[in-house]
Amino acid sequence: MNDKTYGFETLSIHAGAAPDPTTGSRALPIHQTTAYVFEDADHAAALFNLQTVGFIYSRLTNPTNAALEARLATLEGGRGCTVTSSGHAAQVLGLFPLMSPGADIVASSRLYGGSLQQMRNTYPKFGWAAKIVDADEPENFKRAVTENTKAFFIESLANPGGVVSDIEAIARIAEASGVPLLVDNTLATPYLCKPIDYGATLIVHSTTKFLCGTGTSMGGAVVDSGKFDWSRKGSNGAGKFPSLAGPEPAYHGLNFYETFGDMAYTFHSHAVGLRDLGPSQAPFNAWLTMLGMETLGLRMERHCANAAKVAAHLEKHPAVAWVNYAGLPSNKYNKLAKKYLPKGAGSIFTFGVKGGYEVGVKVVDSVELFSHLANIGDAKSLIIHHASTTHRQLSDEQRVAAGAGPDVLRLSIGIETVDDIIADLDQALAKATA
Ligand SMILES: *Cc1c(COP(=O)(O)O)cnc(C)c1O
Repeated sequence: MNDKTYGFETLSIHAGAAPDPTTGSRALPIHQTTAYVFEDADHAAALFNLQTVGFIYSRLTNPTNAALEARLATLEGGRGCTVTSSGHAAQVLGLFPLMSPGADIVASSRLYGGSLQQMRNTYPKFGWAAKIVDADEPENFKRAVTENTKAFFIESLANPGGVVSDIEAIARIAEASGVPLLVDNTLATPYLCKPIDYGATLIVHSTTKFLCGTGTSMGGAVVDSGKFDWSRKGSNGAGKFPSLAGPEPAYHGLNFYETFGDMAYTFHSHAVGLRDLGPSQAPFNAWLTMLGMETLGLRMERHCANAAKVAAHLEKHPAVAWVNYAGLPSNKYNKLAKKYLPKGAGSIFTFGVKGGYEVGVKVVDSVELFSHLANIGDAKSLIIHHASTTHRQLSDEQRVAAGAGPDVLRLSIGIETVDDIIADLDQALAKATA
């Protein structure tokens, strides 16, 4: 099928999943296998030399996972994709070909809390440093770049929501600095935003969220645009990305960029990244994610429509102090949302209750339709009070800086009947403030 001629909804259903040629099975088979029989010794040798494309062992590649990889690469407008066991694994795997001890990245301060945690406390154990900057001012990325900088990292639409990055401006600075821009596109999904169109090099996803859409399966993905020149040199004349464009000792001295061109990054991610780090996705999870993605466009449309109505309702609610949803005209990021998310500003946002911590806790204890839990992007509406859960361990000051002050509730608006969603919040707010 010629992907270029089809629309988003068509590709969400068909890309990567043609009928099975051996059985005629119309649904994607779940290839629940660890390994694959070689045709003969020559075939085996060619596979291990990366001279022929095929399957060896499911830590590296799997046909069900490959279908998801093809679909995600198509929807994001990328060249190749690697799926992983979780979104966090995708972030490590995504940076792995670029980094070495002493290297650093420049990342937005408005990232998902778990990502900031990973960057601040775990990357240093690899000898990687993360410089966290305020991405509202794209020039901050330029100021933070050094000879050792290997990537910029932002979220298109940030979790917990309400914050939109100026992807194009940051991509221009990345390009001028000779580094790839990684964009976490989890909250927007390619239905709402395609960062590669604005100059992003690599896209990372937690497929756990909207792509799967049903709250059943952990997973992650890295999509490569195929557009970055990995043979770029630093000012000292040495290659900036030796794992990709130099002899890679981890693969008998193979130069991936010379050999595979615009597929170098994706081949490296499978042949070295997944092989040596090992965070491969379970084929069953890839299968459930493929199933979920068939309805991605429909779901995102409804998620956004419901969220916009709920946000507008809460903004007028007497028990609510503020609402931080980029889709509201009053929001600071509304202009960026109109540019980068013209079909809707997603369905994750925060709001503040009058009465602070006590009222916030009572709201989560009073909801009936909403589930009080630590996830987003489910068909079901979800709520969490950060200060008493995900951000418990922080000081009051740190909580406020992270957008998780005592009054903050985060919603992930589902695709139920919107009147039911609003009625549930109304009754919970009434109970909490009684
Ligand atoms: C959930 C999330 C992650 C981490 O993904 P997991 O699948 O939970 O590992 C990363 N980035 C964003 C924006 C997320 O919402």
